[in-house]
Amino acid sequence: MIYRYPEYCEKFRCIADKCRDSCCIGWEIDIDPETLVYYGSIGGGFGERLRRGISGGAFVLGEDERCPFLNSKGLCDIYTELGEEHLCRICSDHPRYFEWFEGVKEGGVGLSCEAAAELIISSDFRLKEKEVPEETAPGHSPELYSLLLSAREEMLRRLETDELRSALRWMLAWAEELQSRMDNGELTFPEDTEEQEASAPDAKSVLEYFRGLETLDPCWPELLKTAEEQTGAAPLTYEQEVCLRRIGAYFLYRYFMKGVFDGEILSRVKLAAVSVWVIGWLWRTTGTGGTADIPRRYSKEIEYCEENIEAFLDSTYEEDFFTSAGIAGLLSIL
Ligand code: SF4
Repeated sequence: MIYRYPEYCEKFRCIADKCRDSCCIGWEIDIDPETLVYYGSIGGGFGERLRRGISGGAFVLGEDERCPFLNSKGLCDIYTELGEEHLCRICSDHPRYFEWFEGVKEGGVGLSCEAAAELIISSDFRLKEKEVPEETAPGHSPELYSLLLSAREEMLRRLETDELRSALRWMLAWAEELQSRMDNGELTFPEDTEEQEASAPDAKSVLEYFRGLETLDPCWPELLKTAEEQTGAAPLTYEQEVCLRRIGAYFLYRYFMKGVFDGEILSRVKLAAVSVWVIGWLWRTTGTGGTADIPRRYSKEIEYCEENIEAFLDSTYEEDFFTSAGIAGLLSIL
């Protein structure tokens, strides 16, 4: 089968003890059954320690929410004692993500990881492919797959070549039309579409909305509140806009093709556009423009929290400020 991935993944290296927000802190990690059996077979003192540090098939986090095997130097004791090949599935995959289609596996590295976020915002978005051994993939319509693949290519192309806000407004209008055709069982491309018209921007309501979601880091809502009280600061620089294009490409690449399985694409295009807006707005209003810290925190709070991402996708059909016109309005003040 073909494995497709953004080229920058080849440069990804975990920075381990140098990471300021290790993924081994604060996350509940379930251990896959195969690894659980292996850990149960380990003897000696380390085997004892493994059994003390695991309960109900997951690592028992300490009071400071640290994985019990993350040592004081920020390194993993399981990795050191048993070797990388004996990490559980989640620990060996993270921050990599994967999606399987018939004959194709897609993957990448997630924005919530410090090292990955640096790569994502600093590298051009280029896809690469290579042959890998066959893996099981869920079934889907080949016609819908090729339609969505071509649609994603076109949106990624516009995102790279057109003015950022204009590309996003076009994507919103085009996805709206494509979604309506798909809903009517018509698997055809819309003719070229005008950019989405904008309604009055409602930045305050959007930031309030995000403050009302589940929170991991108690400082996150405070940051959103600060942004809510600002009316904007220095405009985005050319370099910051380039980084935002790459962030938009990340969300589009990672989420759009899921529509093959549930026929839903518009909310995922909105996810890409709103994510670009929130990150760009926080960069502008908190003076952190162009740094990987804000996209990483946004990703951790919204993208990597199942409840939040589901709530957001549902809200794109419920909230006025998340209609295509509402999002186009937000983009007009970015
Ligand atoms: S967040 Fe990324 S860089 Fe940090 S420890 Fe995890 S994988 Fe490594």
